[in-house]
Amino acid sequence: MGIQEYRLVKEYLIKIPHDADLLLAIKEAAIRLGVNSGTINVIGALKKAALNYYLQDKKTYQTLHFDQPMEIASGIGNVAMKDGDTIVHVHLVLADKDGRAFGGHLAEGSRVFAGEVWLRALSPAMQRKFDPQTGLNLFDI
Ligand code: ZN
Repeated sequence: MGIQEYRLVKEYLIKIPHDADLLLAIKEAAIRLGVNSGTINVIGALKKAALNYYLQDKKTYQTLHFDQPMEIASGIGNVAMKDGDTIVHVHLVLADKDGRAFGGHLAEGSRVFAGEVWLRALSPAMQRKFDPQTGLNLFDI
């Protein structure tokens, strides 16, 4: 187990533009605000969505595509750094018009209808490091 103490620096509410790519827009906001560690909540709606699911045995992601409007029933994630790059990691629960829920790891290609993000900037910077056991870039603590 790794535990590191963080200090809350600032909180932001962010309106994501219509038609933006949700993941790239959150990343752009984090970079613009100089956030190198933080936590994220997001709600809103998507015109279409792409969610990744990690195949633990193959250590690769498969992508699920939803080519229909979806509600962001819940979204939670974080911001950290890897080799100088800002890594935004968000998991979403999406609901379709019948209220059926689907979940996964937010992938590029999720087109925003409306998006509201609550970003909390923390200090110091959180670094990610490749973890051979899982094949993932995990917190380096
Ligand atoms: Zn994930």
